[in-house]
Amino acid sequence: MTQHVAVIGAGIVGALTALECLRDGHRVTIVEPDEPGGEQAASYGNGAWINSGTIMPVSTPGLWRKVPGFLADPLGPFAIRWRHLPRLAPWLLRFVRAGSSVAKVEQAARARRALIVDNVALYRGIAAEAGLADHLAYDGLLYVFPSRAEFEKDALEWRLRRENGVSWHELEGEELRAFEPGLGPSYRFGAYVREGCNLTDPGAFIAGLAGYMTQRGATLVKARATGFDMAEGRLRSVSTDAGAIACDKAVICAGAWSGPLARAAGDAIPLESERGYHIVLSDPEYAPLHPIMPSDGKMALTTTRAGLRVAGQVELASLDAEPDWRRAEILVSFLHMAFPAIATRPDATRIRRWMGHRPSTPDSLPSLGPASGCPDILHGFGHGHAGMAMAPISARFLADLIGGKQPALAAAPYAPQRFRQW
Ligand SMILES: Cc1cc2nc3c(=O)[nH]c(=O)nc-3n(C[C@H](O)[C@H](O)[C@H](O)COP(=O)(O)OP(=O)(O)OC[C@H]3O[C@@H](n4cnc5c(N)ncnc54)[C@H](O)[C@@H]3O)c2cc1C
Repeated sequence: MTQHVAVIGAGIVGALTALECLRDGHRVTIVEPDEPGGEQAASYGNGAWINSGTIMPVSTPGLWRKVPGFLADPLGPFAIRWRHLPRLAPWLLRFVRAGSSVAKVEQAARARRALIVDNVALYRGIAAEAGLADHLAYDGLLYVFPSRAEFEKDALEWRLRRENGVSWHELEGEELRAFEPGLGPSYRFGAYVREGCNLTDPGAFIAGLAGYMTQRGATLVKARATGFDMAEGRLRSVSTDAGAIACDKAVICAGAWSGPLARAAGDAIPLESERGYHIVLSDPEYAPLHPIMPSDGKMALTTTRAGLRVAGQVELASLDAEPDWRRAEILVSFLHMAFPAIATRPDATRIRRWMGHRPSTPDSLPSLGPASGCPDILHGFGHGHAGMAMAPISARFLADLIGGKQPALAAAPYAPQRFRQW
């Protein structure tokens, strides 16, 4: 049955959910206060990796021991700003608990893999359909380590990858050097995941999708959703700062800003912004042959249309705290360490910097499914570090629920109501 679906938010999750609804023949209205895929969205500034091997949840056993370090070093790869600690504490407790045993991590890894397993093929199909095929690069993803011993320290992560069907090729010494000739001497071991790909400009890809969808009949409303009008338990309209949008179904895809909308629909979801940063260096002195992640920086180095992008770092503060641009300098220094041909201090005019918000739940799984207060409102947010990778399967799942079809995916690991038991 054709329905009118309002999709709230036009980051990657909203854009692909809207596309799946259009594919199913629904009428679609996309509600977005800014530009689809614009700089406000996490989907604009991420590492651009479409990684079908990103199965590890962020919280792992023993994490609690590292929390004092996160507080002590404001510029570390994972930092918590002191001032925000009281507000963050309940989320942090749940976060630590989510990874408190290997069994929990194994369970989360399986649920994450189910959301990413076919993502490269799905992106290929979406890009071809929307005339955006040239936005994807199929160069795989290369993880590099100072030594094999450092790689083996992440044994749990790689074991879970193997058990969940992710394969990789190991490269050592000269073999690694031949594979990625510009790599610095501090990296002597690599694990190459062939099945990954990357977007060359995630923001432009989403803008392109939005253009394609409006050609196919979707309506784009420039407005901020503020709540819902419901009668007798059913949805009547989405309220926005530009008036009400009458609709049959609504999907909350507002990324890190989804919390208040979920609350208006009956669910208190523990959702935090894991703030991240990127820099883009234009005209880099070395162009890597592959997207690379150095193990010591945990950041993605990816060639994009605007230049070489370095994206990463986690900072827990709040949605509106000021960026700490010293972090951009750290990203630049990692870039030099990874590729010594790149200047230690490139001219500032060649560097663009950005900060954005990963929409994160404590268990590194999104909140997907009907809201407790109304079956016509669906959650579609909380994809944390892997929203680009998880968006196509999440979107299909949501469209199946909207259309009353049996989704291919088991719903329980992503159910909004799972947080009640925590
Ligand atoms: C530094 C960094 C690196 C990353 N690297 C990767 C990576 O390599 N691979 C990967 O898979 N993931 C990566 N991620 C994570 C990924 O970017 C996010 O998970 C994903 O972009 C989230 O998409 P989203 O659509 O849920 O949210 P967003 O992209 O944030 O979009 C939400 C949209 O909702 C809109 N909105 C907000 N409030 C309202 C409202 N009230 N009404 C209507 N609209 C609203 C916003 O304007 C925005 O456009 C990275 C993230 C960061 C920060």
